[in-house]
Amino acid sequence: MHYHKITRTVHFSYGHRIVGHNGKCRNLHGHNGIVEVDVESNNLNDLGMVMDFGSLKDIVKKWITENFDHRMILHKDDPAVLSLTELNEPLYILKDNPTAENLAQTIYKVLRSLDLNVTEVRFWETLDSKASYSD
Ligand SMILES: [Zn+2]
Repeated sequence: MHYHKITRTVHFSYGHRIVGHNGKCRNLHGHNGIVEVDVESNNLNDLGMVMDFGSLKDIVKKWITENFDHRMILHKDDPAVLSLTELNEPLYILKDNPTAENLAQTIYKVLRSLDLNVTEVRFWETLDSKASYSD
């Protein structure tokens, strides 16, 4: 079996904190995150592509911009959700802690639901720390 794979990278900024963490990650803080999305296909289209890098970027970037970029991404049980909502701060609420692992999984599931043949999402929380998710 042969296959082709392309990867598109998208950068964005976000804030979060980890509920239940014993160290500094329990404080609200921010990251410049990097998402890498793999899309695979057995066959290339008429232009010789898995899909256009630009189209893939547009789809990933659009969702990230509307949901994650320059927002606080918080656990649904985080007490900060209430105060920040009162201040009309834009939030993205997860049912679990907003770790790199869970953000990678969220992005993967969203993109799969958009009919992209995404096979793996890698999420760099920092330049030294990366989490990967695939089914
Ligand atoms: Zn963090």
